[in-house]
Amino acid sequence: MTLKLSWVASANAADHPFPLNNLPYGVFSTDGSMPRCGVAIGDMIFDLCAAEGDDLVTPAGTPVFDVPYWNDFMDLGPAAWAELRATLTDLLSDGAKPRPEYLVAQADVQMQMPFQVAEYTDFYAGRHHATNVGTMFRGAENALPPNWLHIPIGYNGRASSVVASGTDIRRPWGQLKGPNDVLPRFAPCARFDIELEMGAIVGTPSDGPITVQEAFDNIFGYVLLNDWSARDIQAWEYQPLGPFQAKSTATTISPWIVTAAALAPFRRDTPAREFELLDHLKDCGPMLYDIDLTATLTPEGGQTSTIARTNYTQMYYSAAQQLAHHTSAGTPMRVGDLLGSGTISGAEKDQRGSLLELSWGGKEPITLDCGATRSFIEDGDTLGLTGNAHGDGFTIGFGPCIGTVLPALKDPFAR
Ligand code: MN
Repeated sequence: MTLKLSWVASANAADHPFPLNNLPYGVFSTDGSMPRCGVAIGDMIFDLCAAEGDDLVTPAGTPVFDVPYWNDFMDLGPAAWAELRATLTDLLSDGAKPRPEYLVAQADVQMQMPFQVAEYTDFYAGRHHATNVGTMFRGAENALPPNWLHIPIGYNGRASSVVASGTDIRRPWGQLKGPNDVLPRFAPCARFDIELEMGAIVGTPSDGPITVQEAFDNIFGYVLLNDWSARDIQAWEYQPLGPFQAKSTATTISPWIVTAAALAPFRRDTPAREFELLDHLKDCGPMLYDIDLTATLTPEGGQTSTIARTNYTQMYYSAAQQLAHHTSAGTPMRVGDLLGSGTISGAEKDQRGSLLELSWGGKEPITLDCGATRSFIEDGDTLGLTGNAHGDGFTIGFGPCIGTVLPALKDPFAR
């Protein structure tokens, strides 16, 4: 597939994240206006609420784009998803009648959460990450838990703490106990971290176990996802029920939902299996995507350093396998369910998707481009993720996924 040309000129550059091939869905507002649905095209947003009001796009009998979330549209189902994408491709193609009256400059808007998060689950499905973290927490002999190669391990997170890119993140307090401490204490997190992940968004509900193919078809799209992690809280609390407060501060997502349809040219197989998976988790086609990912760190007032470069194909399990596993004991899934992939680390040191791994638990601090060093996040640091799939003369990008870490409160219980 090659670049599809649009009458929105800025969309026609080979390295622009939002060409006509992409058409990612978001929620935006301009000063004083109600947040509403739009689609990114080049440097602009095509205002779907306005277009729906003029009957240019009519996916349902009642309006679905005049609300600050994409859940109502997702609920219309895959036939409506395909029809909107086809309609927008026609409307925005080079040669179609230009309709600049529906465009809003992205520079002039505030982006919001693109959907209401029904529930949030986070997985642990990157093999290099699980091996690195397991080695640090339990030793090399016990790095991968015995179940890891047979099921995608996950835990139920908090939908309420998922925030849109640009939201400041307050350093949390928590219960900490160092290896040489006799007793735990309650204090600000000293080992605050990122996790470079992809988020998959469920667009079709289910009630009971579904197959991997059904799960793949039920996923509406993807976002970048930074699963902020308090490593010192995590190390003390995680056994035997897994992370809890360590992952409860915030999870940042990118503001644009990149649809599974837009990513279709980039489908790739999962890696070779060490153990054959049981039938209900077996691969049935390429269900990962070739998406280049980076993590960046910008000290307060300083220059931006790229601290990790990796790729979504490093996952051992696809989002479809994770979703199928999630339903296998019968839990219903809802429109707007969000599944975090787990940290996406590669085999090389500079491909590691968390500071915990990059600095090897703080033992090997990394050096930023400005010369400063980091083991974990310092107050004022801005952490960012990028994601780009590279086609033949075009790019499918995700937009920013950033957050700045603010100092811990002096007294978290002050009223
Ligand atoms: Mn995570």
